[in-house]
Amino acid sequence: MKLIDLNRDGGIGANSLYLQLGELKIVIDCGLHPKKVGRIAAPDFSPLRGVTLDLVIITHCHLDHIGSLPLLLREQPHVPVLMTQPSHMLIERMLHNSAGVMERQRAEENIPDYPLFTHDEIDRCKGRFTPLPYGHAKKFRGLRDEIEIIFHQAGHVAGAAGVEIRHRHRKLFFTGDVLFAPQRVCPAAKFPVDRFDTLVTESTRGDTVRPVGKERPQEINRLIAVANETIQRGGAMLIPAFALGRMQEILAVLDDARKFGKLVDCPIYASGLGVDLCDYFDDITRKTRQTNFPRQILKDLKVKSLPRKLDPGILPDPGALYVLSSGMVVERTPSYFIAAALAGQARNTLGFVGFCDEDTPGGKLLAARSGDPFLFDKINVKTKLKARVEKFELSGHADRDELVDFAVQCKPRAVVVVHGDPPARAWMVQTLSEKLPQTKITDPTPLKPYQI
Ligand SMILES: [Zn+2]
Ligand SMILES: [Zn+2]
Repeated sequence: MKLIDLNRDGGIGANSLYLQLGELKIVIDCGLHPKKVGRIAAPDFSPLRGVTLDLVIITHCHLDHIGSLPLLLREQPHVPVLMTQPSHMLIERMLHNSAGVMERQRAEENIPDYPLFTHDEIDRCKGRFTPLPYGHAKKFRGLRDEIEIIFHQAGHVAGAAGVEIRHRHRKLFFTGDVLFAPQRVCPAAKFPVDRFDTLVTESTRGDTVRPVGKERPQEINRLIAVANETIQRGGAMLIPAFALGRMQEILAVLDDARKFGKLVDCPIYASGLGVDLCDYFDDITRKTRQTNFPRQILKDLKVKSLPRKLDPGILPDPGALYVLSSGMVVERTPSYFIAAALAGQARNTLGFVGFCDEDTPGGKLLAARSGDPFLFDKINVKTKLKARVEKFELSGHADRDELVDFAVQCKPRAVVVVHGDPPARAWMVQTLSEKLPQTKITDPTPLKPYQI
């Protein structure tokens, strides 16, 4: 197999892999870097010049995996795009939202490249999106070669898939983004117990050790306890959450706590794309049974919307819980406005529940110490960080030891490590080299062709 990582700076960003299996040319995922702007936020598609792709496979609908898909499809006007059924139900909404955000950024931040694609273009591509249920083997024939593809439940988020590809006598496996623990909304990953010639594994948490006593159920209890303490001392709490998956998970967790009388009575705010996606999760729950999120949760929690216009530095409702995107508190998002309004008072809490890139405002808040000056520069709010900042180990990604255990049971001849920051990939490479001394471990340099 020939492999090129098209993600121009590696790491977690514009995830996209080009594969050549015999005569078949395939791209897996086609993301957009969450914190870059303009054309460089997309993968570098230059190795695809003059190449006619046979197939695009999408592992799941987070933007770091689909955010540049219409750009690729513009260059590849006939290629089909394969994804799971839940992803097929989510992908158009996610892409339209992304186009809308880029239109706004063009106006507000004067980015001439934006939008990288239009709503019309998304509508023109959608006929090529093809759903495949989990566990079904689909034969895919190119002109001179064929493969068989099976999607396996990957946990992580609704629709996430690990991808098994069989080509001639070889078997390959791509983990995509994976979580082996069950979440409240999404089941645990169910990966095959089998030998694979090649394994391509994510490595998001390769540099993260889960502290003892911070298992998922304990962390959920701690989240509820911190929310209660905050409200009881007259404060407000922000839980920044990715719109796709994390927001529904947190709302479902709050709903359980409230039903069992564990969560104090207080208003709960949620806004934007994440709330819209609750309807999609309701649909996926009913039609595919691949999630557990009835829309009724919003009604039971009496979820309120944020006011349309937020005044910088002013909290719309003290004494409330705010479950808002973006998860990384990216500039000008609802969570950015509310974080700016909360950060200066000790009675408030910022409760992080997912991955934050260190260069995003979320990452900087996590790194800051109490009393440090903190500038929310895009809305001109300068404050001293006094609010309690908590990180809950509720990541949607597998622990590193679980990734290594899965790799070992695959008994692969080759492993490729992707989707991790450099220290995370380095730990994975080092550990896998020790545990699998006969296996060739590759940490691919972006845009360099590898024969795996
Ligand atoms: Zn993801
Ligand atoms: Zn990802």
